[in-house]
Amino acid sequence: MRNFLSVVVPCYNESGNIKELYQRLQAALRPLDIDQEYLFVDDGSTDDSLGVLSELHSSDPRVKIISLSRNFGPPFACTAGLDHAIGDAVVTMDGDLQHPPELIPELWKKWREGFDVVCTLRQYTHEAGLFKRASSKLFSHIFRWLSDTDLPHDTSDFRLLSRKAVDTLKTMRERYRFPRGLVSWIGFRQTFITFKADSRKEGKSKYSFIKLVHLALDSILSFSSIPLYASTILGFAVSIYAFLYSLLVLYLKYWEKSAIPGWTTIVLAVLFLGGTQLICIGIMGEYIGKMYNEIKRRPLYVIKETLGVNPPANNVYDERSRSQRLPPTGL
Ligand code: UDP
Ligand code: MG
Repeated sequence: MRNFLSVVVPCYNESGNIKELYQRLQAALRPLDIDQEYLFVDDGSTDDSLGVLSELHSSDPRVKIISLSRNFGPPFACTAGLDHAIGDAVVTMDGDLQHPPELIPELWKKWREGFDVVCTLRQYTHEAGLFKRASSKLFSHIFRWLSDTDLPHDTSDFRLLSRKAVDTLKTMRERYRFPRGLVSWIGFRQTFITFKADSRKEGKSKYSFIKLVHLALDSILSFSSIPLYASTILGFAVSIYAFLYSLLVLYLKYWEKSAIPGWTTIVLAVLFLGGTQLICIGIMGEYIGKMYNEIKRRPLYVIKETLGVNPPANNVYDERSRSQRLPPTGL
């Protein structure tokens, strides 16, 4: 039986890149002589991405389109693609040509050797900037330190997953999705390939600095409870200090009879305790907010329309939708 490869590409305003990506994909995959589908997920683009994709679909039915009802963000667009991909192996890659399609045959080879997850490691070009490299390294370190999940430094979202790995990922419907962490968490036989990240062809990156910081915090909080422990330990440390300090104050008052008027001390103590408490409450609040969002059990994405895509064979939608037999809108 011929093997089937799915390529999932989340696209947000990539009209300038899609055609070239398609051509390079085709050229790169031709020598493999396998069945293939290119599953583009239009993440609520405001440019003509959907038009370009529809045009490609009408000339090549292997181009399939899922169009989401609005912009959901790359992890969700990618989930939509993984839910609907039918390949024995699935490659996920960006639509901005930063992930070279020419590398796919190598990923495929690793899959044939029996690996379930083939990740790629970015080797930065000079343009990527020292700051981006350093901050990404710092993030990987903190993530590994705070969570039990190993996160190899510099892994990108360009990877190949076996059917087994995709089906496992499909059961993980959490809202705070950090794909690199999830992929590392599922286990199986994993391996890495290094590649040189090209610079973006058209348009600009959709991640601002603030967005990246937000993403980093979300990723860590969704994989680690250590900040909660840390707040407890901080609370204990402050309480012990406060207890010792009160002994000193009592000693000064009753033995030395030299109780100081003490305004400074009181103000410092109040500020210090107030600050600590606020930090701890803030950390708890972050987790509670995440729990609140999680228990709402909203769909991870909503599909507006599809072209050439079958509804997923093994519905992995959450329990509620399964019992109510809702149409497949991608919960
Ligand atoms: N993307 C998406 N939805 C968004 C933002 C981006 O689907 O809201 C897609 C985008 O089209 C690209 C990929 O996700 O294919 C990565 O985005 P980007 O290149 O902006 O990220 P970076 O390379 O800077 O990490
Ligand atoms: Mg990019």
